[in-house]
Amino acid sequence: MAANCGVCGKAIVLNGKAAHRNITCEICDDCAAQVSGTSGSNVLLESIDAPVLLMQGNPRQVVTANKKALALFGKKLQEVENHRGGQVFDCVHSFTEAGCGKDVNCEGCKIKGAIVDTFITANPHHGVSTELSIKKANGTKTCVVQVSTEKLGDFALVRVERYDAEA
Ligand SMILES: [Zn+2]
Repeated sequence: MAANCGVCGKAIVLNGKAAHRNITCEICDDCAAQVSGTSGSNVLLESIDAPVLLMQGNPRQVVTANKKALALFGKKLQEVENHRGGQVFDCVHSFTEAGCGKDVNCEGCKIKGAIVDTFITANPHHGVSTELSIKKANGTKTCVVQVSTEKLGDFALVRVERYDAEA
């Protein structure tokens, strides 16, 4: 099946790398290779039809996000850029003294585990879900959060597939 790149419009040539591309499967290798922490990545992120965060590895924090992600979290870009993932999700443990990923409660966090593993092994993770305690204006709510991850150059993409209160 032929598909065209969502960024440059060229036909996408399927190759071995495609197996590691579960989020950017509609973006060609050339465009995917150009991802960076600069605004040039916006076209790429906006071409993805889901909320996505672009993360850097060290320190592990969000570099930028697309409009769908900002809408999902109800935040402005400045409230997301250079923040830890948990702060973007409003996870209660990201507001502790140790901070997101370092608090004792973060040890078993599956979202953190998937992102860390993607940075270390470059392997993608599909549909990793967990329950997080989310700080809301009217108190703390347990929310189901589900993400997929993919290594993209020096960065990792995190696609948010669920972020909602437990039924
Ligand atoms: Zn392209």
